Formats: sequence, C-alpha cells, structure tokens
Amino acid sequence: MTTLYDKVAFIGLGLIASSMIHAIRRDGLAGQISGSARSAETRAIAREDGLCDMVCDTAAEAVEGADLVVLCVPIGAMGQVAREIGPHLAPGATVTDVGSVKREVIAAVAPHLPEHAHFIPGHPLAGTEHSGPRSGFAELFENRFCLLLPAADADADAVARLRALWEGMGAQVEEMEPEHHDLVLAVTSHAPHLIAYTMVGVADDLRRVTNSEVIKYSATGFRDFTRIAASDPTMWRDVFLNNKEATLEILGRFTEELFALQRAIRTGDGDMLFDYFTRTRAVRRGIIEAGQDTAAPDFGRGAVLQGPSGGKDQDEDAD
Ligand code: NAP
Repeated sequence: MTTLYDKVAFIGLGLIASSMIHAIRRDGLAGQISGSARSAETRAIAREDGLCDMVCDTAAEAVEGADLVVLCVPIGAMGQVAREIGPHLAPGATVTDVGSVKREVIAAVAPHLPEHAHFIPGHPLAGTEHSGPRSGFAELFENRFCLLLPAADADADAVARLRALWEGMGAQVEEMEPEHHDLVLAVTSHAPHLIAYTMVGVADDLRRVTNSEVIKYSATGFRDFTRIAASDPTMWRDVFLNNKEATLEILGRFTEELFALQRAIRTGDGDMLFDYFTRTRAVRRGIIEAGQDTAAPDFGRGAVLQGPSGGKDQDEDAD
C-alpha cells in the first residue's frame, strides 16, 4: 500500500494508538512513527517492544516534523496535550484525535492549534475492554466505522488523506456533525455502558446476599454486562463528564421505558412485553444485516479477533 504520511506521531500509547500503529506498520501506511505517553513505565514498555520507531519523553518532541499527529489520550487530557504540542507542530500538519466524545474535545483542542495546522477530529467505533500499550492489535478497525468530523471549511486534501489512512487500516469512514455524533453515541455506546455498570453494581451488592451464586451461575446476558463494565474507568468517567447533555437525555428516555416495562410486568400485560421484544429483535437483525455483528450464538466473539494478549471482544468504541 502507498505511504500516506512521512511521519505519524501518537500522543498516548494505549489500546487505540497501539492498534493503529500495528495496522499502519502492517500496511506500510507511514514512513516513520513516533510516540509519547504520560508515564515512564508506558514509554519503557513501548521502547522494549519496539512499538514505535522513536519513543519520546515529551509530546512536544514526538510531534517534531510529523505531518500527522494523533491524540490518543483520555478525553479529559486532550486540551492539555493540545496546549503542549501546539507551538511545536510542523507547518501544515494534520492533527486528529480518537476521543469518544466530540463537542467537548473540539472545544478543548482547537484553541491551542496554530492557524497552519489542519484539525480533523475523529472517532473509530472499535475497542475492547483492555487498555495499555500491549492491548492493541492490527485488526481492531477491520470493517468497523470510523467517523470523521471536519469543520465545514476544513482542507479537502487533508481530510481525504486521513480518510485514506483509516480505510487503509480496514475501517469504513463516514463524516458527521459533532453534535449529532454525541447524541448517536449516547444511544449506541454511552448509555449502554452506564446501564452495564449499574447492572454489575447491583449484582455485586446482591452477591453478598446470594453467596457468590451471581458469579457462579452467571448467564451470557450478565457476562456480557460484566465485560462492558470492565472497561477503563478513566476513559468512561471522562465520557460521561464530557457528554453530559446527550447522555442525560437518553437516560431520561431509558428510565421512562423502564417504568413502562415495569408497569407491564406488574399488570401482566403480556401483549405489551411481546410487542416490545419483537420490535427490539428486529433491531438486532438490522445490525447483523449491516455487517456489524454475526448471527453466531456467542455474538461471533469466538470467531472474531485474536490479539497479542489472546481473544478480543470488539466493542464500540467499545466505544
Ligand atoms: P488507554 O489504553 O488507557 O491509553 C491511554 C493513553 O493515554 C496511555 O498511553 C496514557 O499514558 C496516556 N495518557 C493518559 N493520561 C494522559 C495525560 N494526562 N497526558 C498524556 N497522556 C496521557 O486508552 P485507549 O482505550 O487507547 O483510549 C484513548 C482514547 O481513545 C480515549 O480518548 C477514548 O475515548 C478513545 N477511544 C477508546 C476506545 C476504547 O474502546 N477503548 C474506542 C474508541 C475511542 P500512560 O499509560 O503513561 O498512563
């Protein structure tokens, strides 16, 4: 495949960055890769594994001469990182990010970037519950969507080149408005994560009553919840703090639906429950038809991906 960038710099070397690096290297999409992470420990692991051509102690050093800079840090750290790299960006460099929330990230990053840089926010809808520099794998983005959120006056060539990079890593690229992104993701990812966290929290309380039976006899429904609820606490704290409005809107609707179902159970309204579950079953069918999951009884997980640390379940973004 063609080299799309001479030098790509990754700020943050966790799941998403390391997956991108493996995919870029596999397909020769960049000439050189530099990276930087907050802790000396993560930088040491990256050096030991040869994850990047160059691991730098500071973000400012890593972006030196890069024609693409990818911000792969938690949402709450994006603004501070942008402030640090702003004065060190090469003329005409493209800066993108992979944050799971867009409006707040754009507001935090954009003011720190120089006029000459092209800021093209992004969000790959692919992830796992694992984190860190050893959790990545090249196939993470295969057949997953990557959303790009360029401003109306964004440089068309810069957008096309970034699109080509994501497509080169196997993703399907679509463009979206930041506000719409945050609402869609609140429905498809953020609220479901909060519900999973709650369900596992309830079960954990109950465990004390049922003497571990919740764990021992956990059925697939609960196990799926526990996998989602094992997602990185920093990442998800930041998601909820930064997509407050849309998440609260969806949770409000969710609560109303829950009360309606609760009432149907209490009053023995089997027709209501049956119709509701028939409607939701059709949504699942639509997801399979769209190629976003398989119809295998284990949700296709066993068959999907094998990363360096074993089998990987794909999530949203998980998210
Ligand atoms: P991760 O595996 O936890 O890695 C985060 C990286 O950011 C680590 O290298 C960490 O360095 C670095 N970092 C943390 N705080 C920092 C700070 N204040 N300044 C500089 N660097 C800092 O996270 P990830 O899953 O790759 O997520 C990264 C981004 O991708 C997040 O914005 C998230 O919203 C987005 N995203 C995640 C997923 C998913 O499912 N995981 C999916 C799509 C998008 P240390 O290791 O040294 O602490």
